Amino acid sequence: MSTDNAKAVEGCVFCQIAAGRIPSIRIYEDENFIAFMDISPQTEGHFLIVPRDHYPTLTDVPDSILAKVLPLAKNLGDAAMTGLGVEGFNLLQNNGAVAGQAVDHWHMHVIPRREAGEIPFKAGAPADLTKLPFVAENIRINVPPTRA
Ligand code: AMP
Ligand code: ZN
Repeated sequence: MSTDNAKAVEGCVFCQIAAGRIPSIRIYEDENFIAFMDISPQTEGHFLIVPRDHYPTLTDVPDSILAKVLPLAKNLGDAAMTGLGVEGFNLLQNNGAVAGQAVDHWHMHVIPRREAGEIPFKAGAPADLTKLPFVAENIRINVPPTRA
């Protein structure tokens, strides 16, 4: 948590926005997060939920911050549905350049949706069932024990 953006990273556009050095159109802020309109929206009303502190990707974000993200996304998504008169929204977030992450400061997209197909999601090809168990095992053996 920080209120003075103590961990701001030079050259990071979202750290600059959090510090008020680059303008943004904000819809929400608290001690941990800011939310502002995306400058290149996927749909009208697309905004971003951004921690004030700089964490590059999801795996860098403390659980204490992540625990607050979904309740906030729920409330802001609900506000978007009411305020924009839309019936749904997507939550999206990208981790790593290979996954399409362009801004190296972790963030969640909230994308209001008006019609099916507005953003094209392609269905995947059917899995190769001779490989799938081995792919799964490579993930499973790295899952940490469940915490109580
Ligand atoms: P991602 O590809 O998940 O890293 O998404 C980065 C998002 O940040 C994109 O949707 C951009 O349009 C958005 N973005 C980049 N710079 C700004 C900015 N200065 N103000 C608002 N949104 C921005
Ligand atoms: Zn940053």
